[in-house]
Amino acid sequence: MQADEMTRWMAVALDEARAAVHHDDVPVGAVVVRDGEIIAARHNERELTGDPTAHAEVLALRDAAAVVGHWRLDHCTLVVTLEPCPMCAGAIVNARVGLLVYGASDPKAGAAGSCFDLVDHPLLNHRVPRHTGVMAESCAALLVDFFAARRGRSAAAEAVDEPLERGASIVRPTTRPR
Ligand SMILES: [Zn+2]
Repeated sequence: MQADEMTRWMAVALDEARAAVHHDDVPVGAVVVRDGEIIAARHNERELTGDPTAHAEVLALRDAAAVVGHWRLDHCTLVVTLEPCPMCAGAIVNARVGLLVYGASDPKAGAAGSCFDLVDHPLLNHRVPRHTGVMAESCAALLVDFFAARRGRSAAAEAVDEPLERGASIVRPTTRPR
């Protein structure tokens, strides 16, 4: 997959991520690409559905498997705005995804290189190649703005110590894509 293609798919994932904000979900979006075509595009729906597993990646993998007609997605690329958490990294390995592309790193919860590396672990039966840092600035900015707005609301309500949430630790990236 060419760099300009990754950017094009990431732009679609970013549009998905923005849609999550409408139902107060953390803005993370994911698309699954097969043969140069998007076959699934989803965003985080945890708040919307009350489902703890309703992360963008899991939802997109389910949709993609339905399109493909099989759980094995080894000819597919998953493009996601934020580094996957341990649950999603596990799902990505279990789906035998062919390539993982992500935008912003998650230094507090990322399981594709930051805190853990579950997508390329020697003890697991499938290792997923990855490309990181695609449109990382835009992906991170969306999260930073979301949490800033939420903190603003919390302060107004005099809320105390919100628990750490997925993506809450995101800082604007300073490192180059690797
Ligand atoms: Zn996840």
